[in-house]
Amino acid sequence: MIKYQITKEECANRCVGRVCCRCGEPLIPIETVDNSNNPTFWAGCLSCSIFSPGTTMKMYNTAKELHKNYSNISMDDLCGIVRYIRVRFWKD
Ligand SMILES: [Zn+2]
Repeated sequence: MIKYQITKEECANRCVGRVCCRCGEPLIPIETVDNSNNPTFWAGCLSCSIFSPGTTMKMYNTAKELHKNYSNISMDDLCGIVRYIRVRFWKD
């Protein structure tokens, strides 16, 4: 039996309530290998073909709203900016 660094179930638990920063779709566990070539599951988005810790739907929607006025800034960056503001200034 293969020993996964992070099992599909552990990864799925980390995906709960989190969405892709780029498209807003729910994150899912994707089977891959880590840097030491050990099998593992990482959170990611198949539509965007990326591995990502994602963001919450609330932060994604805030970033998407900002994107209407700041379309020159990528959704990835806007999600990062929203997260920064939330962590630094809105400790809710
Ligand atoms: Zn996506």
